[in-house]
Amino acid sequence: MSTRRRRRNPGVAYPDVKGTLRERTVDALRDPTLADNLRTAGDSWGAGREVMKRDFGFDEMRDRARDIRRSNIRNMPALLAELQSNVRANGGVVVRAAGADEACKYITDLARARGARVVAKSKSMATEEIKLNEAMEHAGLEVVETDLGEWIIQLANEHPSHIIAPAVHLNRDQVAALFREEAGTDDVPTDREGLVAHARVRLREKFAQAEIGISGVNLGVASTGTVCIVENEGNARLVTSQPRIHVAVMGMERVVADWDEAAHILQVLPMAAISQDAANYVSLITGPRREGETDGPEEFHLVIIDGGRGALRGSEFEEVLSCIRCGACLYSCPMWQNVGGQAYGSPYSGPIGAIITPLLEGPSSPGSRDLPFMSTLCGACGDACPVGIPLPDLLVRARARSSSPAKRKAGLAFRVWSLLWRRGVTYRLTMIGWRLGLRIRGRGGWVHRLPGPGSGWTKVRDMPSKWPPRR
Ligand code: SF4
Repeated sequence: MSTRRRRRNPGVAYPDVKGTLRERTVDALRDPTLADNLRTAGDSWGAGREVMKRDFGFDEMRDRARDIRRSNIRNMPALLAELQSNVRANGGVVVRAAGADEACKYITDLARARGARVVAKSKSMATEEIKLNEAMEHAGLEVVETDLGEWIIQLANEHPSHIIAPAVHLNRDQVAALFREEAGTDDVPTDREGLVAHARVRLREKFAQAEIGISGVNLGVASTGTVCIVENEGNARLVTSQPRIHVAVMGMERVVADWDEAAHILQVLPMAAISQDAANYVSLITGPRREGETDGPEEFHLVIIDGGRGALRGSEFEEVLSCIRCGACLYSCPMWQNVGGQAYGSPYSGPIGAIITPLLEGPSSPGSRDLPFMSTLCGACGDACPVGIPLPDLLVRARARSSSPAKRKAGLAFRVWSLLWRRGVTYRLTMIGWRLGLRIRGRGGWVHRLPGPGSGWTKVRDMPSKWPPRR
């Protein structure tokens, strides 16, 4: 299989991320194809969600899921210690990585030490977060994404648009064009089934060639040292069983205590994510192949990443660690529904991305500071979250921490306002000036254009020049 991928820009994880957040948002809003693609995806998720609520008592299940995840985060150090000890007892290797560099170094060194050339990956947001593909490509490895959506965006050289549906921003014709380019022929089907069959044939070869399989982890079960991987395509099962070595990359917050807890979360996850009462495949991996077994990897490595998560325990953002990366808050968010995930410029988009990206990358990192403002604070994300994370509250807290220019301007305006209104004289003067200004600008009792900080208000609505307004 020859892979005709557009060349990556070395050192740049997401070459598709260009311009500022505002520019990317405006571009997205002007793209009618994107609007259609996002509407189709959002409508289908919304309809399924109603069925989950009506037929499966989804809202009641949420309360228990929230309690489980809160308890997991409270007990995280002890649960992680138990998970580690049980994975080792099962014959696996456990590595705790403080951040992206350590995790990427461990995995690329392992690949070099084993003489690997081809790496097959299944979908993993943790590896997107640490930019593992770029690190492995720099190390000279061929990395092939085997989840259909991930393979599509790998061919497009883009980053995921959605946590569980990475290529949701592209339609069938756009995907067919990418497949034609990759295959170097126009002889590629254009119907949905044909495209899936084409991808299956192209990727099957890679499963056979790969010496290392890399997966994410949906849950790590402390009591038995098992990692759970949920998927709908079957590719993760091949990635974790076909190559000689399996490396599972897990965010440290994904630990649960036991199978009782895991069973509940594994049911809530597909319900929230794809409106299915069960995922098509749930792989439960407890160490490498044992003596006498004929399949499964010879080596199993679990890389547990902190990446800033540990510091969130006990902070005002602790609840965000409960996230099970279902993507429901993205579909429910009017911002994401209109611009998609590409505009965010980070692996995590939507409300959860707007909160955790600044927390993981730092509030003043260029990609982070404006993200908490990518929300209308309508509350839909909080309603959609299957583990009851108070996303709107956390967005407000994230805004307070942000060093965004918008926030700085607003902060300055409020400081001046506070100074003026602290004294009776300046208060009366501002009121006289304000009324005079309104009288001059207002016509028919309404002001159509305010100066300075008030201009944002009158861009989209009028303001009464007197109170109560004249009808
Ligand atoms: S914050 Fe809630 S809704 Fe959003 S991805 Fe996480 S678990 Fe899902």
